[in-house]
Amino acid sequence: MTKPILIHGGHLFTMQGSGVGYIEDGAVVVTGSEIAAVGPETDMRLQFPNHQALDATGCAVLPGLIDAHMHTPLAILRGVAQDVAHWMQKALAPYSRHLSRDAALAGVKLNVLEALRAGTTTFGDYTNPIPGWAETYADAGVRAVLTPTINALPPGGMAGWLLGDLYPLDKETGDQAIDKAVRFGRDWHGAADGRIQVMLGPQGADMVLREHLLEIKRIAEREGWMIHMHVAQGDREMEQLQMRYGHRTPELLADIGLLDAQLLAVHLTEASDVEAARIARSGAHMVLCSGSIGIIDGVVPPAQAFREAGGLVALGSDQASGNNCNNIFNEMKLTALFNKIRYRDPTRMPAWEVLRMATVEGAQALGLGDRVGRLAPGMQADLILVDLGQPNLSPVLASPVRNIVPNLVYAASGHEVRTVMVAGRILVDDGEALTLNADAVMQEAQVQARELAVRVAKDPDHRQMALLDAMRAGQL
Ligand SMILES: [Zn+2]
Repeated sequence: MTKPILIHGGHLFTMQGSGVGYIEDGAVVVTGSEIAAVGPETDMRLQFPNHQALDATGCAVLPGLIDAHMHTPLAILRGVAQDVAHWMQKALAPYSRHLSRDAALAGVKLNVLEALRAGTTTFGDYTNPIPGWAETYADAGVRAVLTPTINALPPGGMAGWLLGDLYPLDKETGDQAIDKAVRFGRDWHGAADGRIQVMLGPQGADMVLREHLLEIKRIAEREGWMIHMHVAQGDREMEQLQMRYGHRTPELLADIGLLDAQLLAVHLTEASDVEAARIARSGAHMVLCSGSIGIIDGVVPPAQAFREAGGLVALGSDQASGNNCNNIFNEMKLTALFNKIRYRDPTRMPAWEVLRMATVEGAQALGLGDRVGRLAPGMQADLILVDLGQPNLSPVLASPVRNIVPNLVYAASGHEVRTVMVAGRILVDDGEALTLNADAVMQEAQVQARELAVRVAKDPDHRQMALLDAMRAGQL
């Protein structure tokens, strides 16, 4: 049997209790895939005299970061869709409709590489399942909550749909997407030694029929899977639901029995504080994508109201075409800043709170609170070491005020992550990914993105892209 690993010498933030769970001169002991013990280094050395040491001197040691909502194929479209109105129609769709399977998979790998190196250990990915998608996570060694997208938009999606009309939803298309998601779930839920979990993903209450939502809820209850769904994600969704059912999204979901602890509600962009509180009180959880919703919509979603009503909020990076990065350090900082600005109050969303959203509370929101998000005996050994010996994180002070957590949230970029461990296995060492070939991943992404750009440019529809004006004006 391999020896336990003793991680010592670092500043240990366990995220246990109601704060950040700092242990002075603390150490973590990992045996196999689990954390065996956490406590003062002297105690750990006595308890585990026969160990291999991992020296974390000069580092912060904390649980791996949780990114609860991402669309990883879109990493291939980084930077082609932002700073515009009608983001989906006028910026993203002209590209995304030409996304091939190879391009999508290159995006997935690029995204996993980017986020892993920035300390993300749990990936809440939401997309059309393509061959190689789940395998990428299994092979990379990370933890993933995979949600195959379910929608009932006929082939061609919203092409041909006119603003102000109802989308043409199709019963059979939705049924097939549900069947496909269930097959995917049966294949992958609990796979890779339990590192992979599956959720059901209606793309939005406006993008499937009510009967699809009811069927998804029945399956979720039968299989014990959560429902991961965009909720109140835009005025377009609200208009569609008003036209179809005479309800806004939260009312509709309450009406048909979807508002409960099984729901992971993403965005709530258009939800009022009252609606957010209602969703929180139902036991449902929220994913807040501050960067993406800021860039795409210019909105700060009502996470503060959600939390005040007792709800759990996880952070998500959404997509690189309209957030431009998938990095939870970025999300922590933006979340704290945007909420301070929204409420004109510097005490809102302090650093320790957003760090909890990115770790312990994010894990709980994903239903993984008994496995990850905290450093405690019996938990999975998902943790990161962040090198504090960088100009932007120096100096390090322990008293009278410990400055590490504020600096991690407001000054770190994620590039300071030195070591990443998932289920006891080191996946990033000295900043280098061990399970993904970074050069090959980036090269393939470049090739696929160029080919995709050629296909887009040949499509006459691309002329409707809002950013062409910025190109002509010399702004890009
Ligand atoms: Zn999304």
